[in-house]
Amino acid sequence: MTINIEEMATFCRKKGFVFPNSEIYGGLSGFFDFGPLGVEVNNKIKQTWWKRFVQDRDDIVGIDGSIVSSQKIWQASGHVDSFSDVLIECKKCHSRQRADHLLEEQHNLNVEGKSLDYFNAIVKEKGLKCPKCQSEEFGECSQFNLMFKTFVGPKEDEESVAYLRGETAQIIFTNFKNVLDTTRVKLPFGIAQIGKAFRNEISPREFLFRVREFEQMEIEFFTHPGKADDCPYIKDFLKVEMNVFTAENQENNQEQQKMSVADLLKLNINKWQAYWLVQEYLWFTEDLGINPENLRVREHTKDELAFYAKACFDLDYNFPMGWKEIYGNADRGKFDLTQHQEHSGKKMEYFDEETQEKVVPVVASEPSQGVERAFLSLMFDSYHDDKERGNVVLKLPPKVSPFFCVVLPLVKNKENITQKAKEVYQQIKTCYSCYYDQAASVGRRYARADEIGVNYCITVDFDTLEDDCVTIRDRDSTKQERIKISELNNKLFSLYFS
Ligand code: AMP
Repeated sequence: MTINIEEMATFCRKKGFVFPNSEIYGGLSGFFDFGPLGVEVNNKIKQTWWKRFVQDRDDIVGIDGSIVSSQKIWQASGHVDSFSDVLIECKKCHSRQRADHLLEEQHNLNVEGKSLDYFNAIVKEKGLKCPKCQSEEFGECSQFNLMFKTFVGPKEDEESVAYLRGETAQIIFTNFKNVLDTTRVKLPFGIAQIGKAFRNEISPREFLFRVREFEQMEIEFFTHPGKADDCPYIKDFLKVEMNVFTAENQENNQEQQKMSVADLLKLNINKWQAYWLVQEYLWFTEDLGINPENLRVREHTKDELAFYAKACFDLDYNFPMGWKEIYGNADRGKFDLTQHQEHSGKKMEYFDEETQEKVVPVVASEPSQGVERAFLSLMFDSYHDDKERGNVVLKLPPKVSPFFCVVLPLVKNKENITQKAKEVYQQIKTCYSCYYDQAASVGRRYARADEIGVNYCITVDFDTLEDDCVTIRDRDSTKQERIKISELNNKLFSLYFS
């Protein structure tokens, strides 16, 4: 990894991966638009996730819920009252900041989950400097609610208040009964959803890392209340090793360590939660090709845990600005379904045929992944500034690169060559993500393809007209191989899956 987060934002902007939203009007803080290349990568990230976790499995079904929903959902879930961060305002320039971020940056303190009184006391004791104007005078800390409020219909009164969802999870819980009644799912099973979430973050920052509109890929995995540990698959993953930063390590200022899943199970984690944690880890390392050394599991300390969560584990990525959460997995227990049962008056029960009893299932595990943070870790992990070649090489794996291949005529002013190249392009583009490029020298076009992560360059040259062969250039090794056009699709197939 050779660049910092601002340089990555510039790179993504310049190459057409990500643009600042409302840019021609000066921008809108915390919002970004994905450009022609970014949308390809993002769609592929989501496709691999959906395939692995929904389509390839028998125990997960998907939904795609509405973004705006009744205020009653968010009252029941606790978001209206307590989905907030602690805000502090500078008395001089009136800029508003997240108090926990300032305390972490300026005093290396982790204050997650602490009370307002604690925040005020620690700010008084340690002092803070405003990052905007350097003043040291601040007002009292206060809670700031992160939900985006809107009005539905022609009236703007209390009745018509609705919210943009702060997480996709609640739309899964409120559809729990619908899924149960319309499908053949049996406990244990999960409901998955990919979709937008909105949080009015006090100080969005670090490019895509903390934004106000983002996408989540979430699963709520429901089990019988007494069977959160009955995971038949965990035995197949006991030997998988990951970097783990336990709560104990954090409390005693110790380093993280390598731990097998078998050892992880000795911590406060149920077997389904451990199973889902390792599944998401394998999605990162196998589908996105992320270097395992840049990933670690972090156990939440007791102070951090939400009051309803029994245990929570994150996956962190080693960004240039430090280890940061890219994925969370909570054991949410019975909280959500019982809240909605009480507030809506609708039963959230499941009839367990084995035990012949009605139960309200628990969420033994909630794998929750942000698309933007997956995108960002993927970009950092694949970014290589190749000094020898004199250009950046984005080493994205085929499943998530914006284009798998590009077809290049050696020259653009010989019609028989361009004609042949266009025929080759037509032949492969129905099977593989591919584009055609004839502008500039072939060396320049190779460099351009390297920089946006294209896996293979297919060149049509003068010899092609004689031998019906093209040259395939491998992005990472730059090795070139000559192959018959009639064998090209099969060759690409084996390269895609190798
Ligand atoms: P949470 O619901 O807070 O546990 O978040 C679950 C996941 O959503 C996180 O691990 C992130 O990947 C993603 N996420 C949460 N908040 C943001 C944000 N403000 N910007 C980008 N991604 C976010």
